[in-house]
Amino acid sequence: MEMMSCPHCGAQNSSKREYCYECGGDLRGAPKKDEPDYIPTCANCAHALISAPLGKHIGPDQVWCGKTDEPVASSQVAGDCFDEAFTWKREDILD
Ligand SMILES: [Zn+2]
Repeated sequence: MEMMSCPHCGAQNSSKREYCYECGGDLRGAPKKDEPDYIPTCANCAHALISAPLGKHIGPDQVWCGKTDEPVASSQVAGDCFDEAFTWKREDILD
């Protein structure tokens, strides 16, 4: 049986396993290729506010854009004004 060591805790696992038996960590390493590419949307933008300013209303599928000062669809593909809301990278939170 082929073995591999867990990248999280170092425990030996069968290379057939997807999750570490010891710590439950993901053994597959890099995200699968079939995972859709990350596309920044207005919901991911630093200018997006989850609640509208006083007197304004947004729907459950909208965010308030603090840049243009208007409601935008949260799934809308972000434009040139996009400003990443998070400074961490996806890899950082997997550890
Ligand atoms: Zn582990």
